[in-house]
Parts: sequence; C-alpha cells; structure tokens
Amino acid sequence: MTYDTSNIFAKILRGEIPCHKIYEDEHTLAFMDVMPQVDGHCLVVPKAPSRGLLDANLETLSHVLLTTQKVAAAAIKAMKADGFQIRQFNEAAGGQTVFHLHIHILPMKEGATLKAHSGQMADHALLAEQAKKIRDLL
Ligand code: AMP
Repeated sequence: MTYDTSNIFAKILRGEIPCHKIYEDEHTLAFMDVMPQVDGHCLVVPKAPSRGLLDANLETLSHVLLTTQKVAAAAIKAMKADGFQIRQFNEAAGGQTVFHLHIHILPMKEGATLKAHSGQMADHALLAEQAKKIRDLL
C-alpha cells in the first residue's frame, strides 16, 4: 500500500481545506476531529507523508508522540476529563478511513462512552470553541 497525496489530511496540511487547529510545529499538526466520538476528540498528524504506523520512520513517530503527549495534557484539562484514550487505526480492515498517519486523542470522563467512529458531524462553532479551550492550555 502506498501513500496517496489526495487524502483529506494531506489537503489540510497543504492548506487546501480548513481545520480547527489546536497546535502546529515544524513536524506535526493537531486539530479537532469533525466527527467527534467524545467532547474534545482531536487528531495529531505528522507533516511527513506516511500512510500508517508501519511506514512511518522513527523521527516521524517520535514527533507525533511528543505532540500527542502535549495536546492530550491540554485536552483533558480543557474538557475537565478524568483520563484519555489514544487510538490509531491501520488500513480499512483495521478501521482506518483516512490514509495519512494520525493519532486520535479522546478525553474521557468517568463512565463516558464513545459515539460511533466517523459518525456524526459536529457543530463547527462548538469545535472552534473546544479548539480554543485546548489551545489556551497548551
Ligand atoms: P480513521 O478512521 O482512524 O482514519 O480516522 C479518521 C478520522 O478523521 C475520523 O475520526 C473522522 O471523523 C475524521 N475526519 C474526517 N474528515 C475530517 C476533516 N476534514 N477534519 C477533521 N477530521 C476529519
């Protein structure tokens, strides 16, 4: 399986489509998931093209994980969550729908359950508000 530059996250990285940005550095970008499974659901992507976990090099993986740690810490505070999950899907059989490596950050409150993966589109005003809350705590 090869990397296809027409995927939606590559378009976001090229600035061709918008996102609710939380954090950006030289190697990574973090933004809100538009179909959140829980409040504050966000995604971390590397700028380097890789399809999934298996074709990413060590440098890419370390940058993605460091940004995940930074954004998760802010997201759980911003959402007043008690913990969080990180999720990462590979290939269609593994649940992946966008073929550019990404880590899901899911802030979890005690007893919370997840909505469907790639389920319902959230209100953009709410996503913008949550992105700001998380940004403010970075
Ligand atoms: P996966 O199924 O692991 O590949 O996850 C892809 C995620 O991207 C899903 O949770 C979708 O809700 C989310 N998603 C799809 N399109 C966009 C978009 N334009 N901006 C932000 N998130 C998106």
